[in-house]
Amino acid sequence: MSEIKTQLVVLGGGPGGYSAAFRAADLGIETVIVDSRDSLGGVCLNVGCIPSKALLHVAKVMKEAKHLASHGVSFGEPKIDLDKIRDYKDGVVKQLTNGLAGMSKMRKTQHVKGYGKFTGSNTLEVQGDDGVTTITFEKAIIAAGSEPISLPFIPEDDRVIDSTGALEMKDIPEKMLVLGGGIIGLEMGTVYEALGSNVDVVEFLDQLIPAADKDIMKVFMKDYKEKFNIMLETKVTAVEAKDDGLYVTFEGKKAPAEPVRYDKVLVAVGRKPNGNLVSADKAGVNVDERGFINVDKQMRTNVEHIFAIGDLVGQPMLAHKAVHEGHVAAEVVAGQKHYFDPRAIPSVAYTEPEVAWVGLTEKEAKEQGVNYEVASFPWAASGRAIAQDSTNGLTKMIFDKESGRVIGGAMVGTNAGEMLGEIGLAIEMGADGEDVALTIHAHPTLNESIGLASEIFEGSITDLP
Ligand code: FAD
Repeated sequence: MSEIKTQLVVLGGGPGGYSAAFRAADLGIETVIVDSRDSLGGVCLNVGCIPSKALLHVAKVMKEAKHLASHGVSFGEPKIDLDKIRDYKDGVVKQLTNGLAGMSKMRKTQHVKGYGKFTGSNTLEVQGDDGVTTITFEKAIIAAGSEPISLPFIPEDDRVIDSTGALEMKDIPEKMLVLGGGIIGLEMGTVYEALGSNVDVVEFLDQLIPAADKDIMKVFMKDYKEKFNIMLETKVTAVEAKDDGLYVTFEGKKAPAEPVRYDKVLVAVGRKPNGNLVSADKAGVNVDERGFINVDKQMRTNVEHIFAIGDLVGQPMLAHKAVHEGHVAAEVVAGQKHYFDPRAIPSVAYTEPEVAWVGLTEKEAKEQGVNYEVASFPWAASGRAIAQDSTNGLTKMIFDKESGRVIGGAMVGTNAGEMLGEIGLAIEMGADGEDVALTIHAHPTLNESIGLASEIFEGSITDLP
């Protein structure tokens, strides 16, 4: 049994945890990171954001290559080498996790590998491969993240997978069911469809990506109803594992009359916070019944010297939110007076087309009784979109009618997520529609649609195609 004394311990080495630890170390605080994985990076780098984007890149290039046939350039049928695809994905992850290890070393933050649990208000025990390490700390940041929700009525079977299983890419199933029409399920479904699977998607609600506005998802559906068999307002009531496949029974609007056979079922019904798994009660930290830890704007829990960040403090469960919360927690630990109070946190589905929104959605504006106005620019009128054959897109800006300020924005279309930052900046800086309309956007670009939509709001639309 070994013992460590430190000023700060960070429990969890994901985007929240490593960002907090690095910031704290930069501010001169002696910091230890505890994480059960071999490499820092948490879910996002190891089994989330990054490997999924590597695979989505492959899927996108394949789709574009196929599409070029209609513009006079044809390639042969794709030959899939699954081992090489997996190597590519793993290489991307390794490059980034190695980078993190280097940054950690440079800052002299110590990574204690193992599973950590609080044993008191200033002590943590880490169960590692070589035994137990006791850490005595002055301050702690809990950044233990989240894990996929499993459904109790679905049998344990190798052919039932979650997002981590889907990213392993063991094989390409002929027929696959994605259970849940949220971002993670749709991204993974996009990868498998591109590689040859027949993909069905079942969603209990009446639209995919339920948080996005209906008009945005209508554009998305134009492409995706061709790609997937989508069953909305339908739920899975049973899954039976047989030798020849998984037999799924559905109920609801689009439910097939008989159970349907699948080679694989991807369960993507959301993620649950890990707040209940760290014995936070031993340190006196309150955890709610779902596993979330309540924090104030300085990311402080109910215990003065213990902070919490990332997926386990609440929605949206996104890496960039965790990073910013991590910075705030570290700065407060170092005695600075910072707090986490963003006006807008972006969300992006890296499907093709991408779906991206930031600030208020129209649905939220309505619910909050905001006096708003929407101005939308269809990509069918964008010169760049026409030139690159990506006209299935829409840019939507939401303005406060009284102040004229930008309060939200959404884009659906190719690379939408890359362009969303401009709208986020406008919201954070309190820009009004005129500021955006008067900003000269390069022509022809897809993001000039943001300026053009703002010109519509300003009533000054030009004739730029
Ligand atoms: P995590 O990344 O979950 O890290 C927590 C770490 O703590 C993990 O390594 C865990 O093993 C470790 N841990 C937990 N408990 C203990 C313990 N007791 N002892 C030791 N270690 C422990 N977000 C985006 O913003 N963009 C995306 O494109 C995106 N894509 C995603 C794709 C997929 C397939 C998935 C699953 C998620 C995706 N996310 C994405 C979400 C993103 O991964 C999370 O929001 C982010 O990782 C949360 O960061 P975190 O620091 O809170 O925790």
